[in-house]
Amino acid sequence: MTEGRDDRGVAQTGSNARKVFIKTYGCQMNVYDSQRMGDALGSDGYQPTETMEDADLILLNTCHIREKAAEKIYSELGRIRLLKAERANEGRELRVGVAGCVAQAEGHEIIARAPAVDLVIGPQTYHRLPQALAKVARGERVVDIDHAVEDKFDHLPASQAGQIRGRGVAAFLTVQEGCDKFCTFCVVPYTRGAEVSRPLAQILEEARRLVAAGVREITLLGQNVNAWESSDAQGRAIGLGGLVRQLAEIPNLLRLRYTTSHPRDMDDALIAAHRDLPALMPYLHLPVQSGSDRILKAMNRRHTAADYLRLLDRIRAARPDIALSGDFIVGFPGETDADFEDTLTLIREVGYASAFSFKYSPRPGTPGATMEGHVDEGVKDERLQHLQALLRDQQAAFARAQVGRRMPVLIEKHGRHPGQMIGRSPFLIPVVLPASAGAVGAVAEVRIESVRPNSLMAEGAEAMPEAMRLRA
Ligand code: SAM
Ligand code: SF4
Repeated sequence: MTEGRDDRGVAQTGSNARKVFIKTYGCQMNVYDSQRMGDALGSDGYQPTETMEDADLILLNTCHIREKAAEKIYSELGRIRLLKAERANEGRELRVGVAGCVAQAEGHEIIARAPAVDLVIGPQTYHRLPQALAKVARGERVVDIDHAVEDKFDHLPASQAGQIRGRGVAAFLTVQEGCDKFCTFCVVPYTRGAEVSRPLAQILEEARRLVAAGVREITLLGQNVNAWESSDAQGRAIGLGGLVRQLAEIPNLLRLRYTTSHPRDMDDALIAAHRDLPALMPYLHLPVQSGSDRILKAMNRRHTAADYLRLLDRIRAARPDIALSGDFIVGFPGETDADFEDTLTLIREVGYASAFSFKYSPRPGTPGATMEGHVDEGVKDERLQHLQALLRDQQAAFARAQVGRRMPVLIEKHGRHPGQMIGRSPFLIPVVLPASAGAVGAVAEVRIESVRPNSLMAEGAEAMPEAMRLRA
C-alpha cells in the first residue's frame, strides 16, 4: 500500500492518497522536469493520475518560447477555474500550480491574472514543491521563482525503479540547463538562466539507476547540451564527447542520443564519438535557424551558413549515415525574399531527415522584439508553408530510402493492433514490427518493407488480424 502524508504531516494510505495531474507543454526538458516533479510529489504522498477531473492537484508545466505557447496556458487556466468552482460546490478542494518557463517569466502576474492559481514555481525551484504546497494548505498563494542557490538535483528524491519502468525503456536525462548564447529571438537565457552543467558523477549515477530499472536508451538533454562541461575523476576537463564515451560503457545501456546542440559547440571530441561509438545513434538535431548570413548575424547565432555546412561535412565524414534534423525560423525582423531563398538553398543542400520550423514570434525583453523591419504575418505564413513543403518532401524521401534496408530497432511498446509492437529506428523514426520480433526493451534486427505517413513498417508487421484489415 502506498503511504503518503497530508499537508499537516498526517500519514495517508492507499486509495486516500492525493492525486496529481501534470500537464506538460513544450520541449523534452519540460517532460523530464515533469517526471522529476512527479518524483518530488510522490515522496510527499501524491500519486499520478492521467485525468484532470480525478486530481487533487493540477500542475501545468509551461513553455514560454513563442507567444502562442504562453497564451495556451491562460486559456487552460480559464477551464481549470470552472473545474475548481465545481469542486468547491461539492465541498472538495482542488489546488492548481503553474510551473516551468511561463511561471519563471510572469511570476506574480499569473497570480494576478488567474484567480484559480494557488502556486507558481520556477524551473530551478521545483524541488521545493512540497514546502510550497504546505504553505498553500495554510492559505497562502505562493510564488517561488528564485534562481535557487542550492542545486535542485541534490535535493530531489531519486526516481524509484517502479516509476522509471512505468515511463518506458527510453528515458530522458537532463545534463545541462540554461544558455549563455543570447540569440536575439530567444527567451531561454532569461527564463532558464545562465548555462549550468550537472557534475559527471551525478549524471553517471542517474544513468546507472535508469538502466538498472530497465531503461535501454537515454537521451541527454540540455538547452545547449553540447556546451556541457565537467571534470573527470582525475580532475581533467571533460566535454559532451567524453561524457558519451563514459556512458557507452554502462552495461545494458544500448543507445545514446543528445539534444539540442548549438553548431558553435560541436567539437572534435563529440564528432569523434559519433565515429567511434556504436551506441551513439546516427541522428543529430543541429538547428541553424536561417540560411542567410545577414539574418544569422542579426540573430546573433555567431556562425555563417558556410560554417554550418562545413561542420556538417566533418560530421558526415565521421558518421556517413547520420540523419540530420534542424530548427528554422521564418520572418525574423528584416528577412527579405532573398534571405528566405538562402534558407531554402541551405535546406536543399543539407537534405534533412526531419525538422521543426516556426514563424518568428516576438518575445518581450529579447532584442529581436524591438528590431526594425518586422515581417507581415501573411508573408510569414506563406514562407512557412513553402519551407514546410520542402522539408516534408525531404522527410518523405528519407523515409522511402529506408525501404529494403535492415536496421536495429529498439522495441518500446505494444502497438494499437494485436500482434504489433512499436519501436524506434536509429534515426528516431517509429517502426511498426510484428510481436514475434521481440519483447519491450529488446533490439530487433528488422527489414523495412514499407512507409506510412509517420512510421516505417517492418517485414511481417502488415500481418494484422482480418478485422483490423477490414477497418483500415
Ligand atoms: N538551444 C537550441 C538552439 O540553439 O537551437 C534551441 C532551443 S529553443 C527551445 C527551440 C527552438 O525554438 C529554436 O531552435 C528556435 O527555432 C525556436 N524559437 C525560439 N525562439 C523563438 C521565437 N521567438 N520565435 C519563433 N521560434 C523560436
Ligand atoms: Fe535560445 Fe538556443 Fe540561442 Fe540559447 S542557443 S539563446 S537556447 S536558441
